[in-house]
Amino acid sequence: MAVPKRKVSPSRRGMRRSHDALKPAAYHECSNCGELKRPHNLCTQCGHYNGREIVSVGL
Ligand SMILES: [Zn+2]
Repeated sequence: MAVPKRKVSPSRRGMRRSHDALKPAAYHECSNCGELKRPHNLCTQCGHYNGREIVSVGL
C-alpha cells in the first residue's frame, strides 16, 4: 500500500483545509409572498416562480 513519506506539517494541513469551509446557503425573498426561498427554486410557501403560480399550495 502506498504510504505518505512524511508527516503533513500543520502549515500544509491548514493550506489544504483553507477550502473546506462551508458557505451559508443562499436565500432570496419571494417576489410574490416575501418568504425566503432558494434562488432558482419554486417558492415553498406560495408555489410561485418567475411571477406566476406553478404549483397550487393546498391549505
Ligand atoms: Zn412565495
